[in-house]
Amino acid sequence: MALKGRVEVKCPRGCGEMDSDVWSFIRGDRDEELKEALIDGELNLLVCEECSGVFYAEVPFVYSDPAAQMLVFCFPDSFKAEESRWRDKMHEDYAQMKAILTDDKRSVPAEPQLLFGIEPLRVMLKADREMEIEVAVAEALCRELKLPILQVKRSFARGGGVPWVLPCRLSAKAKTATLAAVLKGLDELLARNDVLAGFQRWKVVLSSSKQLPPLI
Ligand SMILES: [Zn+2]
Repeated sequence: MALKGRVEVKCPRGCGEMDSDVWSFIRGDRDEELKEALIDGELNLLVCEECSGVFYAEVPFVYSDPAAQMLVFCFPDSFKAEESRWRDKMHEDYAQMKAILTDDKRSVPAEPQLLFGIEPLRVMLKADREMEIEVAVAEALCRELKLPILQVKRSFARGGGVPWVLPCRLSAKAKTATLAAVLKGLDELLARNDVLAGFQRWKVVLSSSKQLPPLI
């Protein structure tokens, strides 16, 4: 699924140009090894043929994980000076991707996000991985407590640094989830385990909110 292309790259120490294979598209949910390489800072990291120094290829790549509602266009740091130009390019490419994938609605990617440099993407993926653990713990506890779970739009949750699930304790007669039912669910969950930092943040956020976050 991942795509690789041969490009001409230049070592930042002023050596001659060389041809190298670099990744241009990665599916985070399918290319586990590449995702790990990215998190470890080794993706598209090249060794100069002349001075043996290591450097990142100055090429953009796309990181996609539909299950995690993630579609990131990652441009090199040096492209930041022309941010609006690259933002336009991203939207053009996204429109094309969407057009190609319209036959299969499930594959239509999430709204794209523009990042410069690998570091912010690494930070995001690491935070996501930690949150996955907290979500798994909470889901197990909710099963024990027989607490129904609501799915929050993952891109929204990521932006707020909160988990993408919410426990919801409905009264017997209620049919639809309400903010009060979610706060009740959070209290039950946190009474069982009070070190779930992400759910504590949810409690703070929702206690002063008037509505539920966007659900799936
Ligand atoms: Zn070099």
